[in-house]
Amino acid sequence: MRFFRPVILVPVIVVLLMLSAAAVFVPWGTGTAVSYTAFMSQAEAGAFAAITVRGAEITGRAPDGAVVMTEAPAVDAVVARLTATGADLTFEDPGVAPWDVAKSVMPMVLVIGILGFALHRMGGGLMRGGAPFASTARTGKTFNDVAGAGEAKQDLMEVVDFLGNPQRYAVLGAAVPKGVLLSGPPGTGKTLLAKAMAGEAGVPFLSVSGSDFVEMFVGLGAKRVRDLFKRARAQAPCIVFIDEIDAVGRARGGSGGGPQNEEREQTLNQLLVEMDGFVAGTGIVVVAATNRPDVLDEALLRPGRFDRRIVVGRPDMAGRREILAVHAIGKPLDGVDLDQVARSTTGFSGADLENLVNEAALWAARQGRVTVTPADFEAARDKILMGAERKTLTMSPEERRLTAFHEAGHALMALCFPHSDPIHKATILPRGQSLGLVMRVPERDRISLTLAQIKADLRVAVGGRVAEQMVFGAERVTTGASSDIAHATDIAWRMVTEWGLSEKAGFLRYPARGEAGASMMSDHAAETVTSEVRRIIDDAMADAHAAMDQNLDSLHRIAEALLDRETLTGAEIGQIAALRQAA
Ligand code: ADP
Repeated sequence: MRFFRPVILVPVIVVLLMLSAAAVFVPWGTGTAVSYTAFMSQAEAGAFAAITVRGAEITGRAPDGAVVMTEAPAVDAVVARLTATGADLTFEDPGVAPWDVAKSVMPMVLVIGILGFALHRMGGGLMRGGAPFASTARTGKTFNDVAGAGEAKQDLMEVVDFLGNPQRYAVLGAAVPKGVLLSGPPGTGKTLLAKAMAGEAGVPFLSVSGSDFVEMFVGLGAKRVRDLFKRARAQAPCIVFIDEIDAVGRARGGSGGGPQNEEREQTLNQLLVEMDGFVAGTGIVVVAATNRPDVLDEALLRPGRFDRRIVVGRPDMAGRREILAVHAIGKPLDGVDLDQVARSTTGFSGADLENLVNEAALWAARQGRVTVTPADFEAARDKILMGAERKTLTMSPEERRLTAFHEAGHALMALCFPHSDPIHKATILPRGQSLGLVMRVPERDRISLTLAQIKADLRVAVGGRVAEQMVFGAERVTTGASSDIAHATDIAWRMVTEWGLSEKAGFLRYPARGEAGASMMSDHAAETVTSEVRRIIDDAMADAHAAMDQNLDSLHRIAEALLDRETLTGAEIGQIAALRQAA
């Protein structure tokens, strides 16, 4: 604002000057206005002792002091007649009336005013120089304030330790992390984690948002980055937190040019230069947060820059339970089972849960109660779910049930076909685009696959859809299987065209779609490949169907357990399923 004031003062000064100038020229004439004819007849009758002509305006002053005014069309024509009246005739410069001045300068004032305002909006910062950083000496947060993010906290402990004892690492010549990238959906506690790091290490916390760097003027963002790091160096050891790093860190050379893009690139380059510039041991750690890690420029993620990447996901049921407990502190709960609340809030982020507890307390207060009851939590959850449509990925009970059976189907097939990789865990916690997931982890690195393994994989892939069909009927199958279909088709296609695993297609290599030679393939060969792929997948579905039919009660048990606990480990699934027989 400092530099803005003169800009707005200019039009004000101009107006004042012009008004005062006008006031000097023109003493306001006051008097009775009369018609030209009436004036002339009074004048010629000798009614005026003095007459003043100012431009077209003629003023007559009677000996008793009365003043009469009129306007003459052409003064020259009346001068002879006025002279003849014998009154004392004076000619004055017409000058400028103040109102006329105001009228003529008003548009100019407006234009200058608007320009001044626009300049302030666009370039105020240019003159201002500094970026809007927030700097806190002590955040007052610790890892105890962050609930349920065990893995992230563990990873960050090391960085905290480094900030506390930079020399210990420097002596050993160990390359300490300079940048940590926290990625995850909004409200999952990324900012909170960064603040807790600063709090744990007892160092200052400088924070800025990526979008603050991106301004209209090329070069301004880069200057702000320089300023930020200058401040950081002065306060080191410290944590620099950049929220929404994707605003500056988007992959370069993307769509379109233009000053906005150029500005972003310059800012990003400056950020890279600064990060490369500080030597290990200076004690600055840059923590950046984003919910779009996929759009970030590769250069940002190289070693020595944001090489620590920590995913901060939506909390699972246990995590939600802990977060609820943290935010319930100080609120008089009455008979509220937080486990139950955690169970019914699949997909909620930390911020959503904080909001839920708060809304429940508000609701209780509105009802005039002094304790918060389960009914308040119910009401608060409904309000949030209905209000914030799809802001958080929440599933309807129906979708949840379908998802549970779909995932249970995959899991059951992994048990039925023992050549499959063992299940690591299964979850119906929505993540990104997927509503649920069965994760299998091979016991050893897989170098090559046996036919038995491939077949088992296929049966696991189709298991989700098969379970949906068997439990809910053909009409209620969902679109949830699209990635399974892509995966199964890919495997079957490669079995036929690359791996020589189809008798009918033979021990041949067929060109892939789009590959040179693909168009040379005879219609017959193409037909063979397609029909073999189709047969392989149909076989897999039939096998899966048969195996599931034999173990339908296991399928139900796994699905119910998933509905109840959301995430199950492979061992748990094995116990729950208690298979009658493996295929
Ligand atoms: P992000 O930066 O990921 O968008 P924030 O750190 O700003 O999210 O989180 C918003 C609020 O949600 C926090 O201030 C905190 O109160 C609450 N919150 C989020 N995650 C957690 C958590 N794991 N434990 C406790 N509170 C949390």
